[in-house]
Parts: sequence; structure tokens; C-alpha cells
Amino acid sequence: MQEPQSLLATARAKLEKSLLAKGLRRSGERFAILEEVYSRNDHFDAEELFQAMQQKSYRVSRATVYNTLDVLLDCGLVRKHRFGEDDNSKSRYEKSLGRQQHAHLVCTVCHRVKEFCDPRLHLIQTNVGNALQFEVESHSLVFYGQCTDDSCETKPNEATQEVAKRRNDAI
Ligand SMILES: [Zn+2]
Ligand SMILES: [Zn+2]
Repeated sequence: MQEPQSLLATARAKLEKSLLAKGLRRSGERFAILEEVYSRNDHFDAEELFQAMQQKSYRVSRATVYNTLDVLLDCGLVRKHRFGEDDNSKSRYEKSLGRQQHAHLVCTVCHRVKEFCDPRLHLIQTNVGNALQFEVESHSLVFYGQCTDDSCETKPNEATQEVAKRRNDAI
């Protein structure tokens, strides 16, 4: 595993090369966005990234954030996910350099995303590929449910029960 600093240097070099190839301006904003992306360990949407840049007083436009994310996606510096169960769900991103392939658990209550790695998934991928004569390049696996630990922000079951109880009391 590379050190965070050298990882960022590798990411910067990759972005620089990609911008050059696309004939895009190698502006400081784009590299600041890359730096923000690589300082995070979460799965964020474009708007959250934009807000984070604003909070750090970077003068970047929303459009720059969105199109830089597209460039990062193109050159493999971020991964894009659709974690929602419907078509309207926002795309979420995470840095990809120096990260192992992993699967996700998505809490449908607090919308937090947890990650796990299990070597058996790779084994399934290889076996299925062999059996069906298919060269599998990647996979994505998402488990949906609810956190059972106390850190889940809201406990809807209790909240709903409380509302129901109050409604009954009122009648
Ligand atoms: Zn992830
Ligand atoms: Zn939760």
C-alpha cells in the first residue's frame, strides 16, 4: 500500500496526463478537487464535494466540480456507484487508486455506506467466469438493510412506533 502522499502524487500525475490528452486546462481548481477527493474516505455525491470545497474557501464553480469528476472517472481515479434502489438516486463517488476491490453495505435509514472485502467474492468471480467462458473484469455487490449498531443516526422503527402510539393516545 502506497503512502498517502505518494498516492496523491501518482493521482496528480495521472490527472495531469489525462487533462493534457483531452486538451483541457490544467487548472489549480482541478488539482484542488483531486486533493479533496483523495483526502476523503467516504462515498460522496457531487454536491457534497462542491460543498466541501466551498467550506474550505476554494473558489470553484459547481460546473468545474461536476466536469472534473467526469475526468477523474474517465482516467480511473474515482469509482462511481448508484447505491439507491430507484433511478433518481444520486451517483456516489469514491477514490479508487490504492484501494482494494470491495463490496458495500448501504443503510436505507441513515444512508451510510460500509465496506467489506471477502476473498470468496473473487473466487466466485473466477469460477463463474471459467464456467461461462467469460472474462469478468469487475463486479459490484451491494447489500441493503439497516445498521444494527447504535451509531445509526435514526431508528425509524422506534420513531414510527412512537408516532403511532401518540396517534392512538390522541384518539
Ligand atoms: Zn467503497
Ligand atoms: Zn444506518
